[in-house]
Amino acid sequence: MTRIALQFLESAWPDATPHTVRERLRQACDILPVESVLLGWDLPPALEEAVAAEANRQGAALYRWHPLLASDSGTPLPSEWQTSGQTGAPIPGFLNLPEFTFICPNKPAAQEWIQQRIDKAAQRGIYQGIFFDRMRWPSPAEHLGEYFGCFCPYCQTLAIRSGLDLEPIRRYLHQSLADGAGAQRLIRALFAPQNETGPLEGFFRFRTACITRTVAACAQQSRASGLAVGLDCFSPGLARMVGQDLASLGQHCDWMKLMTYPRTFGPAGIPYELHSLAGWLGENYGLSKPDGLQFVIDSSRLQPGQPSTLQQEISDGKSITAAPIFAGLALVEMEKVNEASDEQVQADLLSCKASNPDGLALSWDLWLIPPRRLELTAKIFFP
Ligand SMILES: [Zn+2]
Repeated sequence: MTRIALQFLESAWPDATPHTVRERLRQACDILPVESVLLGWDLPPALEEAVAAEANRQGAALYRWHPLLASDSGTPLPSEWQTSGQTGAPIPGFLNLPEFTFICPNKPAAQEWIQQRIDKAAQRGIYQGIFFDRMRWPSPAEHLGEYFGCFCPYCQTLAIRSGLDLEPIRRYLHQSLADGAGAQRLIRALFAPQNETGPLEGFFRFRTACITRTVAACAQQSRASGLAVGLDCFSPGLARMVGQDLASLGQHCDWMKLMTYPRTFGPAGIPYELHSLAGWLGENYGLSKPDGLQFVIDSSRLQPGQPSTLQQEISDGKSITAAPIFAGLALVEMEKVNEASDEQVQADLLSCKASNPDGLALSWDLWLIPPRRLELTAKIFFP
């Protein structure tokens, strides 16, 4: 039977009360066999406890939805923890949001904070699991010239210890950015190893090794506290761009969600990431918007807005790792971010079913998912 995980309360929505959040969860559990509830990170204790009580009553495991390398409090983290691009400047977060501003996992002070946050979540005593989100480098899609890192002194020291000098990589990047052909070579390299970008491969390996090592340590720490571990990963076709090696990450979790969002215009959404890259290429190297987008689509072999992409990505995920794969289904209704029609959602659900995932992660917030979409999911997966 397809397993169901539910993301809930990315934020304390204005009309969310202990009573209303409990009712919403109860309603969802009446429609679908919910196995786990992944609860947001910055909530008043009364909301957490209401959700914990209802999850418990429903026999569902409660996971803390935990941003690993970004703020979990709505306030910015120390700016000196941020990742650095090849110019040395800190890499800003999406819309400068603290929860999308990434810290470098190689900085000792940041590492200490990461460990403390996991201990704090475990000591809360209401969770049976932890669901790591934001376990990656910043996406370079918005500005490949400046958002591709990290080149901080700690990363340089660590890289040297493994036999890799980041300085020639930085120079190679800088030179590649001098013209459109170089920029296009870099874009192709974001999606698959390229012979002509040889020096960059070491940097890709370094980036994935840092993320895997960090996740492995955090997973081990969580398990020592009795928590199960779920991972929120980029769609396989986009994962290399943010330093996620799904094969090695799969060895450190109980299950893995893939953010296979074919229609989402926000971080990790396939259209958002591809359009951002195309926009950067167009603005800096004079390509027309359609030409830029076509180049990025050809390089990534991903088709924004197509249910077939969902099926392809879930199948790829299953072939890459032995960990149970949960398809991330963007069921929320959000203006400008996720505006799929019910017909499109239905097509996505059918395509998802054809790829036979181990589970579904209903994303990314039950609070913003209309009940009719839960019913549609039930009709298709549990006829
Ligand atoms: Zn760094």
